[in-house]
Amino acid sequence: MVCPQSVIRSKVYEPEKLENAPPTFKSVNAKEHNWHDLKFTIQVAAEDCTGCALCVDVCPAKNKAEPRKKAINMEQ
Ligand code: SF4
Repeated sequence: MVCPQSVIRSKVYEPEKLENAPPTFKSVNAKEHNWHDLKFTIQVAAEDCTGCALCVDVCPAKNKAEPRKKAINMEQ
């Protein structure tokens, strides 16, 4: 929601919408209890990223393998 370029897009949708999706299109089961039986996808258009780092600033999740990092990080 903070990305000014809409680089990171999240969607929740009915599983039927995946019927004609290419095999490389990734999805998981939505975990929110109001979204049971729905699928969840995050898509990233990295080529549109300006490197503003707003997404990193607001990211609330930690990297479980490397706790000093967040779930999303800026790297060169
Ligand atoms: S760093 Fe890139 S992906 Fe993150 S908010 Fe800025 S433009 Fe969007």
